[in-house]
This record gives sequence, structure tokens and C-alpha cells, in this order.
Amino acid sequence: QFPFGRRLPCDIYWHGVSFHDNDIFSGQVNKFPGMTEMVRKITLSRAVRTMQDLFPLEYNFYPRSWILPEEFPLFVDEVRMMKDSDPSWKPTFIVKPDGGCQGDGIYLIKDPSDIRLTGSIQSRPAVVQEYICKPLLVDKLKFDIRLYVLLKSLEPLEIYIAKDGLSRFCTEPYQEPTLKNLHQVFMHLTNYSLNIHSGNFIHSDNVNTGSKRTFSSILCRLSSRGADVKKLWSDIISLVIKTIIALTPELKVYYQSDIPAGKPGPTCFQILGFDILLMKNLKPMLLEVNANPSMRIEHEQELSPGVFENVPSPVDEEVKVAVIRDTLRLVDPQKKKRKDVQPHVESCKNKVNVRCNCVLWYRCQTLEEASEAKEDAREAGAGDGGERGGSRSPEAGLPSLCLKQVFPKYAKQFSYLRLVDRVAALFIRFLGVKGTTKLGPTGFRTFIRNCKLSNSNFSMASVDILYIDITRRWNSMGIDHKESGMCLQAFVEAFFCLAQKKYKSLPLHEQVSSLIDFCEYHLAALDEKRLVCGRG
Ligand code: ADP
Repeated sequence: QFPFGRRLPCDIYWHGVSFHDNDIFSGQVNKFPGMTEMVRKITLSRAVRTMQDLFPLEYNFYPRSWILPEEFPLFVDEVRMMKDSDPSWKPTFIVKPDGGCQGDGIYLIKDPSDIRLTGSIQSRPAVVQEYICKPLLVDKLKFDIRLYVLLKSLEPLEIYIAKDGLSRFCTEPYQEPTLKNLHQVFMHLTNYSLNIHSGNFIHSDNVNTGSKRTFSSILCRLSSRGADVKKLWSDIISLVIKTIIALTPELKVYYQSDIPAGKPGPTCFQILGFDILLMKNLKPMLLEVNANPSMRIEHEQELSPGVFENVPSPVDEEVKVAVIRDTLRLVDPQKKKRKDVQPHVESCKNKVNVRCNCVLWYRCQTLEEASEAKEDAREAGAGDGGERGGSRSPEAGLPSLCLKQVFPKYAKQFSYLRLVDRVAALFIRFLGVKGTTKLGPTGFRTFIRNCKLSNSNFSMASVDILYIDITRRWNSMGIDHKESGMCLQAFVEAFFCLAQKKYKSLPLHEQVSSLIDFCEYHLAALDEKRLVCGRG
């Protein structure tokens, strides 16, 4: 800590809250600009909804959600329509205040009209979501999973997932929601911060029992019951990749605004906490993403009334220490310089070093992946001290990496989903003034003109009307009133509108993809022409 400031630049800056904690011009920062805003409940729901519009089947891992207060009438209508078409449907909904955390302000309802009774929607924006009534239970208790994900780079996209996570348990046996039990938070909400206050909370002195356990201990149990744990992991990996794909377009807009290309600036990485609920049929559902997941490895214990002491928590330590250690290993600025010093490994010694949770992970893998596990171990220089030609690797003796790369490793399977990323690239190109995140009317007109999108059926006057209509609506519900102009989500809506107009009969994702190709083609031709003119 440098309370009086520090003149020399650092390799790595570890900020407590956000990218903006300090002014940084070099090195690496552990936060991306805009991440805190992106993972708020409303913004995340919007970003996932855009992807659900394009790819409904691929994005069915996020509960149906409505944004309050503006979508309240839509919520009422849609629920009425669904009830009419299926009278046996008896849903429950969960209302979560935007920007809330630790279960703060969350409540369950059976009917949309209950929201008004509870009040406060005008004062506090929130997300109302379909409640998952049939979660997987262990020891009759509901639990959720906290998984740690490292977003190592945005461009190119690099994602790592920790091989183990935490399972956080409720403290009252679960019953499907009824009007009588809706208010029982210890039965329905898995937040540690709430359940710690229940008399039934059990601090674990090992990783397999108590109210907080390792996820690997749950997987072991499921596997012994014959569950397909390998499929579960693969579903979780795909949920994580798809969620990050939903977040990247807007993150790129924030990134170029805070770290303009061509100017000195840091690079970023970030550890994210993914909260996932398993349904009874083992389908993982995304609850939320945390930009500042707690890295505490201790918990408070009341020694005598009112006297508290911090005591180590073995479960947190097991999972979190490995995540931080391996994040630092992966972003290590010295690593590149040591490229030629290749640590080598005796695989048998490595096997001894691998901990129980990793053994489970490896057992879950296909042959192809098992060979990679060895690669991971080799990379980590586990086991033999990593000596070669007399030079000792600094990673010698460390356990194998707990963070597993999933992107670009599985990029091929997911690249077709990255349509909004390409729309964002168009948006950023026309933003013009560096440092802005909103497109002015001139920028929008230039986009239409350069991409040759206006014609006799779609005049420049209609372009202006489209711009004004959509921008006004987004700005009236937006949280950010600092800048005027069209935000990325508004541009995406306008782009979808144009795509639907131009390619009428196709499914939405094909309309959008065709329009992107069309725009990219015309912009490439324009660039080529400018290059030739420049040369001339
Ligand atoms: P917070 O940020 O306040 O913790 P979450 O979205 O994580 O808000 O919700 C708190 C808890 O509520 C979750 O840990 C989970 O146990 C429960 N929960 C949230 N959404 C749902 C849902 N759609 N279905 C079932 N349970 C949910």
C-alpha cells in the first residue's frame, strides 16, 4: 500500500472495486471498465434478452425476466396470456432490486398484482423473474453454486473457469413455493449473508459438509448416484461462455472509451463470480454474475455474546486461494520473458500432487481433455521442481492450474453466437470522437450512408425519425444521463429493425447476420477505395 502515492508504475494493479479506482496508464488492471454496470441485474437481463431474441434455444439457461417499472404492463399481459393458454401453470416469481446484492430486498410473489401491494417499484428499479420451483436438492436443502471465471482478455476473447467452486446451502428444508412459505428466506434464498443468521447454519470444518461446501464434493455425490457429471460440466462451460458473449459487445464500448486504441493505457483482466442454480434435472441456470466476488477466506465467529473473532474457513481457502494464485500465474508479466525456460514435468509425480477435486475433474473429462490436463500440469511445472539446464522455474512445486481455458479452446462451437459483437464493431467505428459511448445523429447518418442502407423506400428523413424514436425511448429509461445520443443497445435495436425491413422472411439471427455481412462488405469496399485514393 502506498498511502502517499507511488511514482513508479506497477506490473499489476489489484483494485478493490472498479477500473476507475486509480488513473492507470500501463501494466494490467484486475477490473474492466464498465463491468460493474454490465452485471447489474437490469443490464445483464437486457444483454441476455438480446441474445434470447436472436438465439432462443441457446440462451434458455436464464429465467424469463421483465424489467420494472417499464415492463410491468408487459409482465402482466404475458403472464395472463400464458395462464390462459395453460390453466395448470401455477408460477412463482422472484423480484430482485437492481444493483442489490446478498439477497437484499428480494421477495417472492405468486401474482403480478402482488408487486403493487409490496410497493416501491417506482422508487427502485428491479427485475422480476420466473422462480425456479424445482431445484436440485442435497440433504433436502436448496443450494446454489458460485463458480469463479477469469476473463483474461476481451480482444481476443480469453476465458478460464476454475475447476472447483463453492456450494452455498439454505438452512431450512426446501418445499415448493406456496403462499404460506413464500416469505421463508432460509428455505428459498441461498445467500450466505442471509443463512448465516439462521440457527441451523453449520460452519464447515471440511469441504464435504455444512452450509458451505466445495462444488467438487457435490459432484462426487452426484457422480456416485450415477449422474452424468461430465455433461453437467460441459453445460456449465457453455453457460459461462454464452453469458460472456452476451456481455462483450457493451464491454468493448466501455473499453474503447476508457482506453482508446493507440493511446498508452493498461490492459485488463477480471475474476467474475458466476451464481448458478441446478434444476432437478441437472440443468444449470444462471442467477447472476458478480463483478466483485468476495475473496474472504475467513468467517466471523461469535465467541461470547457480542464478541466476534475471524476464524479460517477451509472451504473458502481451498477454492479461493487457488483462483487468485492461478490468476496471477496466468497474467504474470514475467511469463513472456521466461518463454524459453520450459519447465518439464514427470507425470507420475504430478498425479500425486493433483488434489482430490482435480482428480474428479480429470475423471470427468474425455480422453482428448485428459491429455490437456497433462498440458496444464506441464504448464504449471508441477511436481519435479521444473528444472532444466540448471534454471529453476518460479512455478516449480506449485499445484497444477485450477483455471482451465475454455475460450478460445471451444471458440469454434460458439463463434456463430457473436453477432452483436460485430454490430458493436460497426457502432464503435461510427462513434467518431474518442471517449464517447453514444452515437450522435450525424454518426448514425454516416453509418447509413457508408453502408448504403438508404434507398427510395427508406429515405434519410426516415433514418432521422428512426434515430430519434429509438434514442429517445432508450434515454428515457436509461440510468446514464451523462451523455446524450444513441447507446449501443439502442443501436442494436435500430440495427435489428433495419435487418427485419431488408430481409423480411428470414429468422431474426439470419436477418441480422445478412445485414452485418452487407455492411461489412460496403465498409471494406470504402476502405479499399480510400486506400487507393490515398496512394494516388
Ligand atoms: P443477490 O445478488 O441479492 O444475491 P440473486 O440473484 O443472487 O441476488 O438472488 C438471491 C438468491 O435468490 C439466489 O442465491 C437464489 O438462491 C435465489 N434465486 C434468485 N433467482 C432465482 C430464481 N429465478 N429461481 C429460484 N431461486 C432464485
